[in-house]
Amino acid sequence: MRIIGLEAYVLEHEVKRHYRWRKGLPGSPQKQEICWLRVVTDEGIDGWAVSSHGYIVADLVRRRLKEIAIGQDPLLKEHLWHQVWEFDRIEEFPIYALGLLDIALWDITAKVANLPLYKLLGGARDKILAYASTVTWETIDDYLRYADECLALGYKAIKIHAWGDVEQDGKLAKILRKHVGDEIALMYDGSAGFRYEEALKLGRILEEANFLWYEEPMREFNIWQYQRLCNDLDIPILVPETADGCHYNAADFVVHGACDLLRTSTHYKGGITGAMRIAHLADAFGMYVEVHGGGLPNLHLCGAIPNTRYYEILVVNDPKTEREEQGELGIDDEGYVHLPKRPGIGWQIDANKLAKEALWFKKFE
Ligand SMILES: [Mg+2]
Repeated sequence: MRIIGLEAYVLEHEVKRHYRWRKGLPGSPQKQEICWLRVVTDEGIDGWAVSSHGYIVADLVRRRLKEIAIGQDPLLKEHLWHQVWEFDRIEEFPIYALGLLDIALWDITAKVANLPLYKLLGGARDKILAYASTVTWETIDDYLRYADECLALGYKAIKIHAWGDVEQDGKLAKILRKHVGDEIALMYDGSAGFRYEEALKLGRILEEANFLWYEEPMREFNIWQYQRLCNDLDIPILVPETADGCHYNAADFVVHGACDLLRTSTHYKGGITGAMRIAHLADAFGMYVEVHGGGLPNLHLCGAIPNTRYYEILVVNDPKTEREEQGELGIDDEGYVHLPKRPGIGWQIDANKLAKEALWFKKFE
């Protein structure tokens, strides 16, 4: 089997539901550009993957990924994964581009095996609980109201992205815990908004409010600060989400005691190959690994990794309608998301339609 071509499609979507994050961070864009990658083989089985940052990624397909992939055996994924890292040394790929080719190659591999990807990867479960991952709303009352709506739909867990203010966020954490009761899992995501002293102070409040995890309170540049925070707090700290270097970097967090839970994802951690390495690293140290973000590839990780607990679903401003829009990626009445049974990743793509709608489309052979 040989790769005989790559195709890149840049598309632009209106962002239908606008949202914001903590103070200091940009909110949602007006329009979002994405790039679909199609890997074409000589045996008629194609692989697909998609990324944010459409034109940046398309440029890397045009200049670099085609050079790595064309003429190669798509099933030699380890070889090609390492080739991407070799090119990264020169090119400095953004982390969202490191796993793009790998995801498409796993799509091909699972189609060859005639299995849904999560079963090929090992198969840990057919469904997983999801947590409602909030955006940043205006008031504490907003959080309580949306929490009620999410719980009524079936969610059993809620993760808050709040304002990035120790006093306000701490107050919200206490009130929300009282509001939802002790049975609901609550998590907090700091989106790297704090310095050490603030992160420590807020962490103590989250401990008191019995939060399940404390995610990325500080930027992940400095392992020593996370080591201090882990030493000073009992609440499990979940990182690294945005640090570059996949499992090589995650290993450093683990051996220095700078995390209690590891973050993994297909889109920031080198595709399926990199994400599964992080999952196994966590398992070797008796840790849970928690999957960052939604979408089909991340859902397959959730189905494949035994030492993980939740699938992440962003809730913007209308949980009920959003669930309908999510289709098979939305929760059932008990709060579970079910793994797709189609071979491969299970994308349902009309290539002709994509080409027609694309702002930019090119085939490389
Ligand atoms: Mg996060």
